[in-house]
Amino acid sequence: KSWLAGVKMAPPDAILGITEAFLKDENPRKVNLGVGAYRDDDNKPWVLPSVKEAEKRVITQRMNKEYAPIHGLTAFYNKSIELALGPDAEILMNKRNATVQSLSGTGALRIGAAFLGLFWKGERMVYLPTPTWPNHRPIFMHSGLKVANYSYYDPNTRALNEQGLHESLCKIPEKSIVLLHACAHNPTGVDPTEDQWCEISCIMKERHLYPFFDLAYLGFASGNINKDALALRIFAADGHQFCLAQSYAKNMGLYGERVGSLTIVCSTKDEAERVHSNLKTIIRPMYSNPPVHGARIALEIFKDDKLFCLWLEDLKVMANRTIAMRKQLTEKLISLGSTHSWEHITNQIGMFSYTGLKAEQVARLTKEYSIYMTKDGALL
Ligand code: PLP
Repeated sequence: KSWLAGVKMAPPDAILGITEAFLKDENPRKVNLGVGAYRDDDNKPWVLPSVKEAEKRVITQRMNKEYAPIHGLTAFYNKSIELALGPDAEILMNKRNATVQSLSGTGALRIGAAFLGLFWKGERMVYLPTPTWPNHRPIFMHSGLKVANYSYYDPNTRALNEQGLHESLCKIPEKSIVLLHACAHNPTGVDPTEDQWCEISCIMKERHLYPFFDLAYLGFASGNINKDALALRIFAADGHQFCLAQSYAKNMGLYGERVGSLTIVCSTKDEAERVHSNLKTIIRPMYSNPPVHGARIALEIFKDDKLFCLWLEDLKVMANRTIAMRKQLTEKLISLGSTHSWEHITNQIGMFSYTGLKAEQVARLTKEYSIYMTKDGALL
């Protein structure tokens, strides 16, 4: 008997399962709203013009295919953290950041989680918002940390559960880790306002809660980098020492190239150097070193002012299209006679929209109209 005979079929991935069912459907009018990737007006993937140009430049340089260092391309990840914190950030001036290139946002979260799993001295519990991106839970659990939840979204108002969030943050044991979506919360599209972020930062500082920022949509949410980085910069100004996972999957459309970075903010340059060396010892046995092609593309964009401006325009195209789609969907529902309030659709931000549709309504849309989406009614 095979030693693998006892291995049971693992459950399918909730989101990828939707695509499988969609592909099997023979209805020519079928629509898949369960893909977490940008589509243009023809429902096609979009390679950003800035990325096309950057890639052309990378290819003409005919670089070799040698290994990157364990920590990746230094010029790339230095620009990456500068983009998030702003070029004048005190953290960067004093070189208090330990930053490495990562395998996109997931890889950054995983390395950050592994570092915390090894070194975190506080409560070994990571608090995630309810709801959150389904991969957060296994990422932290794989690193030996426990996972719990904090209140975030109110299904009745389809907005931030401000009171619940406040109460949660006041109740979470001190020195716990709290995961925050820096902007364009996935899957609800509901973000705190500037004042609310200030309050969250203040409570977390007072209660020694450790912020772990997931920044998967910088510039993609509003079309403006500085606006989308607001939460992060509030926390930086308040003196938090946070962890930050960055991804260039959505905002550069580099999904399959796996481009990202991880930063751990330290108290001194010396501390940052020691943390950086330990990040390398975590990365080395996991995947040795990251791929170079995507990071080279991102770096071309970062280092050329003209190309960078072109990218900012591309970002606006994507952000404006998602904003326009929200408006059109709401207008269409109203013109078809819906008296329900759909205001939340236009209030939400980013790629995801929490429609408020219930599982049975989603099932009916799929069965009768071949419209595929997640069971919780999120449009991806
Ligand atoms: N974090 C959030 C909230 C996401 O929505 C995603 C992608 O959907 C990621 C992280 C990681 O994506 P990637 O690993 O492709 O960068």
